[in-house]
This record gives sequence, C-alpha cells and structure tokens, in this order.
Amino acid sequence: MTWIDPLSRYLHRAAGQHGPVMLMYHAVTPGKIRPGWPWAVSMQQFRDQLNFLAAEGYATPTMGELVAEPNKWTGRTAVITFDDGYVDNLAACDELQKRGLRATWFVVTGSIGESPKWPADGRPEGRLLNVVELREMQSRGMEIGSHTVNHVRLTEVSDARLTSELSDSKAALEDLLGRPVGSFAYPYGVWDVRCDDAVKQAGYSAACITRTGWALRDANPYLLRRLTIFNTDTVSTMARKLYLGSHDVRWRDLAGYALRRLRHG
Ligand SMILES: [Zn+2]
Repeated sequence: MTWIDPLSRYLHRAAGQHGPVMLMYHAVTPGKIRPGWPWAVSMQQFRDQLNFLAAEGYATPTMGELVAEPNKWTGRTAVITFDDGYVDNLAACDELQKRGLRATWFVVTGSIGESPKWPADGRPEGRLLNVVELREMQSRGMEIGSHTVNHVRLTEVSDARLTSELSDSKAALEDLLGRPVGSFAYPYGVWDVRCDDAVKQAGYSAACITRTGWALRDANPYLLRRLTIFNTDTVSTMARKLYLGSHDVRWRDLAGYALRRLRHG
C-alpha cells in the first residue's frame, strides 16, 4: 500500500471529474534516491506512483487512443508519456506492463540508440532507447511517437528545417516500427501557430505541449496539455495534481483555492 497523506487522499476522491490528464515523465533512475535532475524520478517514486494510479482505477490509454475517441474516457484517465526515450525507461516499461498500464514515448530519431546529441542541462548519463527496444515496447502495447529528429526548439528554425524535423522523424519511425506514427510532442514544450500548421501538414493526428491543465481543455488534439512529474513529486503531490489538473499543489496554493471556492460557491 502506497502511503499518501489523508488530506491528499480525501481531495483525490473527486479526481477524474474534469476529464483525462496527461502525465509527463523523462528519465527514471534506478533505486530509491531522488535524482538531482528535476525531470527525472527514481524507480521507487515511479513504482509508488504507478501503484497509486492502478489502485485508484485509472485507465491509461495511449495518446493515440485518447484522441481517436476523446469522448470514450469518461472515468479517471491518465495518459502516461515519456519524452526523449532514455534507456532507463525500459525498466519503467516493465513496471507498467506488470500492472496492465500503458504509455506513449516520444523519441528523437537523430539520436536513437545513442547518447543524446542535444545540450545536457544536467540530465543523467546514458544512451537513448534503440530500435530493437522500441519495437519490443511497441509489441507490448506501448505507443511510440515523434519528438523531432534533433530535439530543437521548433519556433526558432527555418520553415524548411521545421518541415524536415517533423516529416523526417515521422517517416523514420514509421520505417523502423512498421506502423503509422500519429503522435508528436514539442521539444521544450515550445510551439506557435506556424509550428501548429506544420505539425498538421506533416500528417500527425495529435500533438502535446507542456502547458498545464486537463489534457482536452482546449478541445484541440494538437494542443494537449500535460502535467509534469518532477523529481520532488511524491504520491501525495501527484494525487493533488490529478485532482487539480495543475502544478500549483502546495498547501498554500490549495488554501487559496479553497477560499475562492467558498466565496464563489
Ligand atoms: Zn524532450
């Protein structure tokens, strides 16, 4: 049984009423020690969080399944996503499968099976998932989507480069995996109207960003919102994120929220 503080558990009872959420993970480092990189979690944190999602009855469709039938997911739904495709995610995939959960991975096709070629910013050492591993994950029901060829900020590149980052990564994955690739995630979460048009032009059926909120809040499959799970997140803070659809889940934030609710009914 995963420990969660009583107030977070109480609040979470009402979670799921506002529609699906998407959760964003990156690296999952082995063991129990909390990683220093804000975007990584330890395997122990990850297991605890999955145990909570499973115990609380969350459906975990892939992103492709969410956008294919957006009205189908009326109960508690959490689309679990991983950006970049770190090799330590293989163990995370095993943990998902053990619990009958699934997830969507966004991989960078220019660095498949190699060390990431984009700037490090403190992430853990190690290579990215290779083709054999990605195929294996796909065969276990996981979805593989694109995260560009070179992990660039798409808002800052030329039109030609924008098109190639989107189309070449899609074509490469379809070639490697033998399946259409419809899901895309923006590197660094940055996007604009030009990028949005290009993603549609390239033939993707959905894209996710890093703006927080309920996944389908904008009713636009090309602007799916996600909640980040940080290295500091416990099961209790994750439960509050699931309840509020927000990162602002410190008790101080929640006190303000409760007061507003009281004032406005
Ligand atoms: Zn990324």
